[in-house]
Amino acid sequence: MNQLENTSVDRNAEVQNAQAVSPVVLVCEHASSEIPLEFNGLGLADEHRNSHAVWDPGAGSVARRMSIRLDAVLVSARVSRLVYDCNRPPHAPDAMPDKSEIVEVPGNRGLSDAEKTARTVAFYEPFRAAVATALARRTDPVLITVHSFTPVYHGQKRDVEIGVLHDRDTRLADALMALADRCMPHVVRRNEPYGAGDGVTHTLQEHALAGGFLNVMLEVRNDLIADEAAQYKMADLLSDWVSRAVVATRAGAC
Ligand SMILES: [Zn+2]
Repeated sequence: MNQLENTSVDRNAEVQNAQAVSPVVLVCEHASSEIPLEFNGLGLADEHRNSHAVWDPGAGSVARRMSIRLDAVLVSARVSRLVYDCNRPPHAPDAMPDKSEIVEVPGNRGLSDAEKTARTVAFYEPFRAAVATALARRTDPVLITVHSFTPVYHGQKRDVEIGVLHDRDTRLADALMALADRCMPHVVRRNEPYGAGDGVTHTLQEHALAGGFLNVMLEVRNDLIADEAAQYKMADLLSDWVSRAVVATRAGAC
């Protein structure tokens, strides 16, 4: 199979390694800083145009490397989360936020219901469909979402380096935490810097919980994945850790 057949691109969903053999389905909702021309940059100030408010720096690159390492399919968003945050349902106030941390998003102020619906149809629904398709094509799939977070938030420095986030189904997160000391030379914490109460587990809820699929959300502090070498190193560590945790979880279920 050539690369073209193995990759598909929708307006807001890029699917890589579509024919991969692993049961793991990688998802990166905040992979892109792209704001389509029609949105005029959402009125963002220049200093915020490439900031973590717009995307998760480094996360897409880490996820792509993990896709190769694990031989797993990867579904990535192609537009900024400020256009539509694919890790939020359409009714969530922060699906198209007019403010993110300290960043004002003038282009999202006072959106009409029709404008919100148009963005949902254009950006959320194709992404949601691509994730659902990737899961449906696998037997007993494992959903892993890959994110990055900023080292300083609202002026507070964050010590956590890797966050293992879960919703009601804790099986894979439990296995990752049990293996963390052995596999990850980093400060690993459960449900930090966010948790389900912050609304960040939408993709897990939407795609994994109902089907009973193993699932987890991984958050990497973005100063640890600032260049390609660091991204590859982190991706390899995460891939090895995830592989062991999936095996341990499946073994425990027998
Ligand atoms: Zn994110």
